[in-house]
Amino acid sequence: MILRSILDVLLPRYCVCCGRRLMHEETAICLHCNIALPRTYHWESTETLENNRLAKRFFGRTGTIPFVRGASFIYHTPKSNTAKIVYDFKYYDNPLLARNIGEMMACEIGEDFFHDIDFIIPVPINYKKRWKRGYNQSEELSKGIAKGVKKICSKSIPIMNNAIKRSENNISQTRLSHLQRIDNIKDVFYLNEKAYKNKDIQNCHVLIVDDIITTGSTVIECIKQLQPIKGIKVSVLSLGCIR
Ligand SMILES: [Zn+2]
Repeated sequence: MILRSILDVLLPRYCVCCGRRLMHEETAICLHCNIALPRTYHWESTETLENNRLAKRFFGRTGTIPFVRGASFIYHTPKSNTAKIVYDFKYYDNPLLARNIGEMMACEIGEDFFHDIDFIIPVPINYKKRWKRGYNQSEELSKGIAKGVKKICSKSIPIMNNAIKRSENNISQTRLSHLQRIDNIKDVFYLNEKAYKNKDIQNCHVLIVDDIITTGSTVIECIKQLQPIKGIKVSVLSLGCIR
């Protein structure tokens, strides 16, 4: 704590949303902006983890793989405070922010969501993007989530980085329509053979982690690659989703 206070004087930190200087007990976002985040509350009693707006995007769309539960932490609106968080950790070389947000998410969402999860698979980015950015933002988010889960229920969830790979020849999803997005994502992901042969992953419950979910088509294509693995089931968690 004392070290943090000294560091805050020497190297002040600023809120990624409003730019205000952070107090020593604040991480990444100031308390004011944190309270104002548009939480989805998919994990609270008004909705259930198995049947909420996010989960409904996956019902009947995951091929032969059973879909268990889903949640997003916040609603994502372009040019809002939530967008600032995402842009900062996606485009401004801030993997620590993704980890901090991941940890915060897991602590708020709580143990019920994570109690039976065996592995986390972050949605992969392609090699070129990873090389350019230096990290995969969903992987950093996953590391934070794993840290948060360890905090709330002393459970260690391993992150499987290389189970699903992403090929390099797809164009950005951002400017495409819903149907174009489905087509664009097809055949982009593939299962790493080593993961397929790895018996540890059979009969497991895997949590797929993504930054922002729009239609769900990217995550669905990712999930479908796991179909050859015996007895696997999936859940989905993202930082944000479109309303
Ligand atoms: Zn702020």
